[in-house]
Amino acid sequence: MSNQSGLVALEATLSRDMELLNYPAKPWVLPRSAANGQAILDVLVAGGGQGGLAVASGLMQRKISNILVVDKNPQGSEGPWRTFARMPTLRTPKHVTGPDQGNPNLTIRAWYEAQWGAESWDNLKLVPRTTWAQYLEWYRKFLGIPVRNDTTVGALEWNHAERCFSVPVQTKGTTEVLLARKVVLATGIDGSGRWEVPGFISSNLPKTLYAHTSEHIDFEALKGKRIGVMGAGASAFDNALVALSSGASEVHVFYRRRTLPNVNPFRWMENIGFLDHFADLSDAERWRFILQIVRMGQLPPQATYTAAVAHSNFHMHGESPWLNAEAVDGKVRITTPNNTMDFDYVILGTGFVTDLSLRPELVKLEPNILLWKDRYSAPADAQNEDMSRHPYLGSSFEFQEKTPGCAPYLPSLFNYTYGCLLSLGLGGASISGMKYSVPKVVRGITRQLFMEDSDLHFASLQTFDAKEF
Ligand SMILES: Cc1cc2nc3c(=O)[nH]c(=O)nc-3n(C[C@H](O)[C@H](O)[C@H](O)COP(=O)(O)OP(=O)(O)OC[C@H]3O[C@@H](n4cnc5c(N)ncnc54)[C@H](O)[C@@H]3O)c2cc1C
Repeated sequence: MSNQSGLVALEATLSRDMELLNYPAKPWVLPRSAANGQAILDVLVAGGGQGGLAVASGLMQRKISNILVVDKNPQGSEGPWRTFARMPTLRTPKHVTGPDQGNPNLTIRAWYEAQWGAESWDNLKLVPRTTWAQYLEWYRKFLGIPVRNDTTVGALEWNHAERCFSVPVQTKGTTEVLLARKVVLATGIDGSGRWEVPGFISSNLPKTLYAHTSEHIDFEALKGKRIGVMGAGASAFDNALVALSSGASEVHVFYRRRTLPNVNPFRWMENIGFLDHFADLSDAERWRFILQIVRMGQLPPQATYTAAVAHSNFHMHGESPWLNAEAVDGKVRITTPNNTMDFDYVILGTGFVTDLSLRPELVKLEPNILLWKDRYSAPADAQNEDMSRHPYLGSSFEFQEKTPGCAPYLPSLFNYTYGCLLSLGLGGASISGMKYSVPKVVRGITRQLFMEDSDLHFASLQTFDAKEF
């Protein structure tokens, strides 16, 4: 049972902290409206998950309040935490901070201890997944972050007349066009591409026989069934474990490598040098680091792995890429180099691809966006197609033009998704990267807003006449 009075006390302390730190207090961005009188937002943030909320709170701390966060999901269902994530706890260590932006009393630990006590926190091995979602909900409410849910951002377009973005949004079937000087895409880990279903699956199998781990899965219906899982990363194992605990008769996990990786590069990445200065490296250096990290591979958290292998009806198949899948008598027959096997249902732990042309928000802009393949040619033994499609972002996560002059407004659009990995390291779509990445996005936006209005600011200085005596 959470101790509400503890939370009230924490909020009082936090309000005091923010009051103590409230300098300079005055709003400074000069409001703009369109010729037709429509107000222009300073910043629109697409995505109300941890990333979008943290960027919004960073902007508000810098006295930019003419902002709006929109999320296509209903309130409380932002991100994966209460939708398709199926692990009992976060995968990141509990001490990893991020959304707090350096305010100790805004951390998940302070929030947790205020309600359940320090001892309970000490006894906590990892933060439960839904507790993290609760923390984000409180964070949003306490900071008064303006979020509009059930609202989907459509194809962005630059409005040359108003020098801002036209942002079509749809809320429960009603479409309107918002105007915003800056837009942040905090649209999730798949926000620079999409969750990927291999072509031979979607073309050969009816949808009733498979699901990607990012989709809704009726695990009750898998009771007594034989399940095949493609991939052996964290989500593949999470789903295998839920299928096992839901009573599947057998679960088989397939992966390409000979053995499962058991070293997590994310734990290596959690150091200040990498988190804060990876972006300062040369193109060749950034490429080699991320290629190494990608080649080290994804792995299930230790607890998930141990829990899965404890099941006698759980089987792992290394060096077993799926070469084909076909529907045979209502079952799925998969073919690997070693054999063919039949399953009642298959789950795809195949992650996501990076490809901006797949993003609905970017259809009108993508052709002009600079990508790594436009700037860097990797050595023959260091090729990686997905990495070459990563956007070549600026130091504040801003998009850049493919050719100078083709779309000079692109730096007003910020990519705070996992697509930032090659350009800036861990940033969007990871808790581990937030501490050092949120300030970079926020500072990039404040810098642009101030510099774009420098004439207006100078005029306000020239007319400034607050008499001291
Ligand atoms: C299953 C899973 C488990 C993970 N576990 C961890 C972990 O333990 N530790 C860790 O550090 N990281 C983890 N991650 C990685 C990462 O931290 C999460 O993906 C996290 O949710 C990213 O936060 P975000 O705010 O960037 O994106 P999200 O939380 O995904 O939020 C993005 C939001 O954008 C909205 N959106 C998308 N497109 C639009 C649009 N066009 N218009 C309006 N809204 C839109 C979505 O509805 C969503 O709510 C995990 C990821 C997954 C998928």
